[in-house]
Amino acid sequence: MSGTIRMPPAVNEPVLSYAPCTPERAELKSTLHAMSEQDADIPIIIGGEEIRTGNTHPIRAPHDHGLELGVWHAGGAEEARRAIANTVEARREWASWPWEDRAAVFLKAAELLSTTWRSTLNAATMLGQSKNAFQAEIDSACEIIDFFRFGAHFAEQIFDHQPVSEKGVWNRIEYRPLEGFVYAVSPFNFTAIGANLAGTPAMVGCGVLWKPSKTAVLSGYYTYKLLEEAGLPPGVINFVPGDPVEISAAATDHADFAGLHFTGSTAVFQSLWTTVGRNIGRYRSYPRLVGETGGKDFIVAHPSADPAALRTAIVRGSFEYQGQKCSAASRAYVPASLWREIGDDLAAETDALAMGDPADFRNFVNAVIDRWGFDSITGYIDRAKASPDAEVIAGGEYSDSDGFFIRPTLVLARTPDHETMCDEIFGPVMSIHVYPDNAWSETLDIVDSTSPYALTGAVFSQERRGVREALERLRNAAGNFYINDKPTGAVVGQQPFGGGRASGTNDKAGSAYNIMRWLSPRTIKENLVPPTSVEYPFMGEE
Ligand code: NAD
Repeated sequence: MSGTIRMPPAVNEPVLSYAPCTPERAELKSTLHAMSEQDADIPIIIGGEEIRTGNTHPIRAPHDHGLELGVWHAGGAEEARRAIANTVEARREWASWPWEDRAAVFLKAAELLSTTWRSTLNAATMLGQSKNAFQAEIDSACEIIDFFRFGAHFAEQIFDHQPVSEKGVWNRIEYRPLEGFVYAVSPFNFTAIGANLAGTPAMVGCGVLWKPSKTAVLSGYYTYKLLEEAGLPPGVINFVPGDPVEISAAATDHADFAGLHFTGSTAVFQSLWTTVGRNIGRYRSYPRLVGETGGKDFIVAHPSADPAALRTAIVRGSFEYQGQKCSAASRAYVPASLWREIGDDLAAETDALAMGDPADFRNFVNAVIDRWGFDSITGYIDRAKASPDAEVIAGGEYSDSDGFFIRPTLVLARTPDHETMCDEIFGPVMSIHVYPDNAWSETLDIVDSTSPYALTGAVFSQERRGVREALERLRNAAGNFYINDKPTGAVVGQQPFGGGRASGTNDKAGSAYNIMRWLSPRTIKENLVPPTSVEYPFMGEE
């Protein structure tokens, strides 16, 4: 049976509004209620088999210490080794499936998530990771759907790319999935990142060992179940939450380790890279290392910037999802003239943001993820309060009595190298440095050199010259650069995402560049009329 099969056109999933009286709001509220009542018992899943190790950890809502959503079972080295053996085995058949059958599993998962599964993934993300309805919708519904639909579309574009053939010869490239297994390690802050880290290599035929973050196991588990319902064969992705050090050691020690698909902090990625380097002689192939890591994302305002647009971008870009987006703005550079105009309003608007339980849809901000995050972020706030070089001009209050709540906080940094201007805080803390209007050019140099990261950044300027200078001088300071917009909210297919310098390998999640890393091309030359004599024409007699 033959046919030139095309993927359906990829379009971004529309974001539902969850406004009062909409059906999606009613359904989400009811799922939230049901999920809050249930007592999940989340297993490890290897080869489709549910394994309960008995080494359980509670799943608590970050915004409500009293809300226990169930437990998850942790795995270690033994489960990791079992999962690897199973994945390598399952990959053999999966890799041999026709591309359209593999794609169909993910296209079906996208449709299920767009319809019957939407409220489940969103509710799990809201409860387990403390996201409001809108932040969950753009993550655990729309972005996962986009990753799967655009993934199929971009893979098809890669497969279409074929070499030329001269007369008598037929050249072609076969895009083979990596041999062995890919190790996917996902962070807590986006459900969609877990789906992409595990799902994208699997879509193009790889076998995947997926270790989710301990604070996103609930949504990770439902992501796995969604793929299972969509027809993903057992073992193609094995889901092993557990001890990150033991599981990572089992993966990176293994001869079949073919790639690392990582998102998380820079320190962890660098330690994994170091281990892989040390073990390089053990592997059957050179592993592909793809990592998207930390950021210290900036907004730089030119004196000509639109004040209202700048103020709005600072609030939305810094405080949505409590600043726990890798792309969240966390340092801003504002000229003195503009600061006089927006400073008070910005502080008032920040202080007016409603904070609380995500199940109460009036809240803009919710809780930060866990005790570690809470202590680390509040440490920065306390030190800023005590520092002669900084002033807390909005927020600054916090409480862990009911959940891990930190008020959105604005820090005015008198020096551009104050720690809140340099470190990735990964919380609702925006640090602002006010520069003299005539120091625009020097300020661009400070923006470029202050942090080791280069993930996202934005310039606000109504004069084109300001835009031009920022584009030029900050060329390597961000992998995703925004002009008169907040530096968050990248959409699959529209703004391929990833950063350089210490922020990652910049393989652009949700793009063909990323997919290519999970493929190893085989070039095939077929001679249609092979030569039958050794002698070349030039060797003939005069
Ligand atoms: P994290 O580094 O703590 O954890 C990420 C993953 O690494 C988790 O699965 C965790 O269990 C695992 N891990 C932790 N310690 C490990 C170890 N010693 N060995 C092996 N694995 C280990 O990060 P997080 O707190 O979940 O996420 C926040 C970080 O992720 C921030 O730095 C943020 O900037 C970054 N991030 C980056 C992007 C991006 O696209 N650049 C996107 C999201 C998050």
